[in-house]
Amino acid sequence: MNRLSSMMLVLGTTNAGKQQELTTLLEPFQIECRSLKDFASAVRVAETGNTFADNAALKAIQQAQALNHWVLAEDSGLVVEALDGSPGVYSARFAGPEASDDDNNALLIEQLTDVPSSRRIAYYACHATLAAPDGTIKAIAEGRCYGRIAKSAHGKEGFGYDPYFIIPEYHQTFGELSLAVKGLISHRGRAIRAIIPMIVKNLKAHSVSF
Ligand code: IMP
Repeated sequence: MNRLSSMMLVLGTTNAGKQQELTTLLEPFQIECRSLKDFASAVRVAETGNTFADNAALKAIQQAQALNHWVLAEDSGLVVEALDGSPGVYSARFAGPEASDDDNNALLIEQLTDVPSSRRIAYYACHATLAAPDGTIKAIAEGRCYGRIAKSAHGKEGFGYDPYFIIPEYHQTFGELSLAVKGLISHRGRAIRAIIPMIVKNLKAHSVSF
């Protein structure tokens, strides 16, 4: 085993779509990514913050302390201008605490019924936070991706609001674009690319040499 392969990072999410995107984005950096499912001691974090940044910090700190490992957590969501910023930090539970992606999308489209295409402007935001095993925050980064909300669903790629999120430059939704293209232009891709140098620096500094 060489020095780089000893770098281990826990991805602080239980969302399968996020997990897949984060793993793909981190793959080229020889960081061994583990999932919360690998740890019986993982905790369920109450997302009580009012901002994406606060919730990302809560997730990173609490999971790092519970697992005694480096944790990369992120909080993300959809911000719709015509809905005064909703669903925002409530994106995952827009239609209720146990809402599915379909439930959330149905409510979003219902609330935008009378809003014309020109006013269906939105962005996705992602705040990423790296915490050391003792829960100290070592790095943060933010990414955004601007688009528009479609009137009907297009495509089966991605997750969450993706079938309704149009990328104007492509005239396609994230539901139609590939994971590779989404990774290049998405809020998550941008936040993770910004935080990667700090992840590598911190993990290298604390990894064991073999
Ligand atoms: P979190 O797990 O509390 O950060 O909530 C994230 C929620 O925001 C997801 O459940 C989705 O509803 C939405 N979301 C965040 N990122 C994306 C994305 O890349 N595509 C689609 N929906 C997203």
